[in-house]
Amino acid sequence: MLTLEKMYSMGHEQVVYFQDKSCGLKAIIAIHDTTLGPALGGTRLWQYASEEEALIDVLRLSKGMTYKAAVSGLNLGGGKAVIIADPKKDKSEALFRSFGRFIESLNGRYITAEDVNTSVDDIEHIFAETNYVTGVAQQYGGSGNPSPYTALGVFRGIEASATKAFGNRSLKGKTVAIQGVGSVGFELAKLLNEVGANIVYTDINERGIEKMKESLPNAKFVSGTEIFTTACDVYAPCALGASVNDETIPMLKCKIIAGAANNQLKEDRHGLIVKEKGIFYAPDYLINAGGLMNVSIEFEGWADSKSRRMIDTIYDKTLEVFRISEEQNIPVNKAADVMAEKRIESIRNIKNAYLGKTNFRMPGQKNRRG
Ligand code: NAD
Repeated sequence: MLTLEKMYSMGHEQVVYFQDKSCGLKAIIAIHDTTLGPALGGTRLWQYASEEEALIDVLRLSKGMTYKAAVSGLNLGGGKAVIIADPKKDKSEALFRSFGRFIESLNGRYITAEDVNTSVDDIEHIFAETNYVTGVAQQYGGSGNPSPYTALGVFRGIEASATKAFGNRSLKGKTVAIQGVGSVGFELAKLLNEVGANIVYTDINERGIEKMKESLPNAKFVSGTEIFTTACDVYAPCALGASVNDETIPMLKCKIIAGAANNQLKEDRHGLIVKEKGIFYAPDYLINAGGLMNVSIEFEGWADSKSRRMIDTIYDKTLEVFRISEEQNIPVNKAADVMAEKRIESIRNIKNAYLGKTNFRMPGQKNRRG
């Protein structure tokens, strides 16, 4: 695969490779678009089968971050990093500090955060070497674990979808079927329980199921594909991507699809299929942006109330996407893309109008490191 050709076709600005033999670090950072601000996106640590697989992943994920930040109204661009390593064997302080130095060398064009197989502890090692990192532990003035904030955004997205589908945002008495009660799914279940929704859930992890049984004994467990066939108001995918596909759509008995998982539609065309079936689909990258919103305010001084106020805007943004979808008669996933692209284009135009590209204005660091 030709990297420059791929970058050109997907619109990436920059792709940087790093290696450090002393600690076994092999990493790629992809910066997709910095029109709106510095590129922010987490670092995924994964044992990729090949360099090409890692590159494709980082290109795809970083582009997704551009759209997520843009549609969420954040002054951030899209970026992502991958470290090619075995999460069981290769993680070390040295590896993450070395990676932190490489991030520092990009002078703030890229800001990292947690992702699959990177934890708050790993972030701390990166933070020892660079300020261009978010999701720092709360004891260092950071925002800590993003999952409860992601769950709050998903909850607001479900409320907006309910307004559209039922004419009222209340979820009291509504049935929500959650696939995956991990970090986000569990927090979402708690929020739904607080407002009197009925919860049906599934998971493949015994620990997650036990936790649900202890904390929310009224929630009903179902196994495997039963989560798709359950009669419910909302199907909330909170496990892996692609759960909305040719096999599952005919089984669905819900009015709304709204959850935390990334890339819920297996292919773009599934957005049109669910629309034609009369199901309201809340675009995943908009309603799961609560975690990103939460880390985005870290540089200016994180506060729980500020974060929650920002995340509450997901309700109105979701309704706006539904409006565009209806007005232009396009599936909701396309409408979210239109909203994101329109914003990026408008800002690119004003930059081009008089300055060329402005320098990044990095927010102050005074509220972190105590
Ligand atoms: P997690 O790993 O903590 O939880 C996922 C859960 O899904 C686990 O309990 C797992 O056992 C379960 N699961 C996996 N495959 C399943 C299957 N086939 N059927 C049923 N259950 C299954 O992950 P998370 O942090 O809760 O994230 C959930 C999803 O939301 C992921 O797709 C993630 O990319 C996305 N997301 C998370 C955040 C965040 O802040 N954590 C932010 C944005 C998007």
